[in-house]
Amino acid sequence: MRLAIVVPCYNEQEVLPEAASRLMGVLNRLAAKGRIAADSCIYFVDDGSKDLTWPMIVELAKRNPQVKGLKLSRNRGHQNALIAGLFHAQGDALVSIDADLQDDVEVIADMVEAYISGCEVVYGVRGDRRSDSFFKRFTAEGYYRVLKMLGVDVVFNHADYRLLSRRAIEALREYKEVNLFLRGVVPLLGFKSATVSYARSERFAGESKYPLHKMLRLAAQGVTSFSATPLHLITLLGLAVCFLSFALTLWVLGVRFLTDEAVPGWASTVVPIYFLGGVQLLCTGVIGEYLAKTYMEVKGRPRYVIEEETRSEAQIRALGAERGTEAQLEVLNARQGQS
Ligand code: UDP
Ligand code: MG
Repeated sequence: MRLAIVVPCYNEQEVLPEAASRLMGVLNRLAAKGRIAADSCIYFVDDGSKDLTWPMIVELAKRNPQVKGLKLSRNRGHQNALIAGLFHAQGDALVSIDADLQDDVEVIADMVEAYISGCEVVYGVRGDRRSDSFFKRFTAEGYYRVLKMLGVDVVFNHADYRLLSRRAIEALREYKEVNLFLRGVVPLLGFKSATVSYARSERFAGESKYPLHKMLRLAAQGVTSFSATPLHLITLLGLAVCFLSFALTLWVLGVRFLTDEAVPGWASTVVPIYFLGGVQLLCTGVIGEYLAKTYMEVKGRPRYVIEEETRSEAQIRALGAERGTEAQLEVLNARQGQS
C-alpha cells in the first residue's frame, strides 16, 4: 500500500524541519518493514504562510523525493488546507496530522496496521491531555459534549489526526458543502473504523496558530453545519410561551370571576403581550424549520455510500490480490485444495 501523510502548515518555520525528519523516519521504518510502499510520501500544504514556511518546503522537496509541497494562494484556515491536501494527494491511504508534533507520529504505524486489517477510517484519539492547559482541556471536552447533545456524531477527543482510505476519500468528495467540518463528516461516512489512542504532547516549537477567535469560529461551524437543533429550539420555546399565556388566561379568568381582586385593565394588557410573544416565536420557529430543511437540501449530501457488493468467483480471481479480495482468494484456494 502507498501511504501519504498530509500536513497543513501555517507559519510553521520553527517546527517544519523537525516535523519533516520525524515523519520521514516513520515512513522509512514502515517501508523497511514492508508495511508500506517505498514511494509513500508526505504532502506539506502551505496555508498562505507569511514566514519562510513555503521556501523551506520547496527546499525539503528538492532534497527528498518523499516530500511534496502544495501552496494555497492565501490563508484559508486549517480545515480548508487539510481538505486541499486530502483531495490532492495520491496514495491508497492518507494520514492527516498537524505540523506541530503534538500528536504522536509513532501511532501512524498502528493506523497502518488497522488499515491493512480492513479498516477504512482510523481515528487518532487523545487518551491523555495533561499537556494541554486547563482552559483548553475544559473548553475542548465541554465542546465535544455540547456537540453530542445537539445530535452531532463526533469521536470524543479526536481532532484531525486520522487515516482515511482511498475509498473513504472518494466518499468524502461527495460531500459538496463548502464549509466542510471534517470531524463531523467523517463519522457520517460509515465504513469499518478503528481508534488508536496516544498521549498528546506540547507543541514542539512556535505558538498555537489557533487563536481564540479561530477556535470559536470552528466551534460555531461544527454546530451550524451539522445541527438544526438551535432552530428547533425556537419552535419549542414558542410553544412553551403560548402554553404559558394560555395558563395565564385561565388564571386571569379565575381571578375575575371567583374573587374580587381583579385589577381593571391588567389582564387585557398583560395577556396579549405573552400571547403575541408566543405566537411570534412560534412563527419564527416555523420559518426556522423550513430554513433548516432548505439548508440540508442545499448541502446536497450523498444519500448513501455503498460499502460492498457481492462478487462471483470469477470476479474475485480476476481482481487478484486487491485488499479485501485477498481473504476471499485464500478461501477459494483452500476450498480448491480440499476438492
Ligand atoms: N493551521 C493552518 N491554517 C491556519 C491555522 C492553523 O493550516 O489558519 C495548521 C497549523 O499549521 C497546524 C494545525 O493547523 O499544523 C493546527 O494548528 P495548531 O497546532 O496551532 O492548533 P492547536 O493545536 O493549538 O489547536
Ligand atoms: Mg497544535
